[in-house]
Amino acid sequence: MCLTCGCGEANEHHHTHEGDAHHHHHDDHAHTKTVTLEQKVLAENDTYAQNNRAWLAERGIVAINLISAPGSGKTLLLEKTLEALNGKIKCAVITGDQQTDRDAQRLAGKGAKVHQIETISSCHLDAHQIAHTLPEVCEDGTKLLFIENVGNMVCPTAFDLGESFKIALLSTPEGEDKPIKYPVLFATAKTIVLTKMDLAAALEWDLPACRQYVQQVQPGAYTFELSAKTGAGMDAWLDYLKRLIQ
Ligand code: MG
Repeated sequence: MCLTCGCGEANEHHHTHEGDAHHHHHDDHAHTKTVTLEQKVLAENDTYAQNNRAWLAERGIVAINLISAPGSGKTLLLEKTLEALNGKIKCAVITGDQQTDRDAQRLAGKGAKVHQIETISSCHLDAHQIAHTLPEVCEDGTKLLFIENVGNMVCPTAFDLGESFKIALLSTPEGEDKPIKYPVLFATAKTIVLTKMDLAAALEWDLPACRQYVQQVQPGAYTFELSAKTGAGMDAWLDYLKRLIQ
């Protein structure tokens, strides 16, 4: 259940009262309770997030929270990034999905410690889950921690994990206008990575329009345009990561 988007129990409550003559009264009550619970959940999350941030800072670890829609290429970008940094920068990965450890399997054997979190019913990672995972996944000498959030452009943005900053991904098959449709993510991300650029021509995807939408929600936004598949644009991305830890 996500208290940010209101999916889960709050909606179920509504459905159980359908047809009830007094359901408006019940809905108002449920809404008040949901808002109060949401504030409590976010406050608890923030406490864990602050502790995580302090834990990471003590060890000099830069933590990046990767957020995007499912299928935009977070895991492939991480695969290629870990391969390139193997033996040069010690990395760790926490990867979140509702179910399966498929991403952890894809990311294994590339020189980084990888831990999969299965969120089951939840549409985002939270700081409590990260707190439990940090000591195991961040071995001595770790410089970069990648947190691959659950594929979702809305809810993960609301939950501070204690990361250094967020990076938003947007793949060309998703269209040019996601930044203005989901502005919270694209306004709060420190960096925006446009992925699957190798498909842009075939999709007649409009790069200037996408750049304009990005700038509209975050003037001066720092963006990369790359294809993890072909390697185009990867050098600039990797240079950026190297500079982060210097
Ligand atoms: Mg993935």
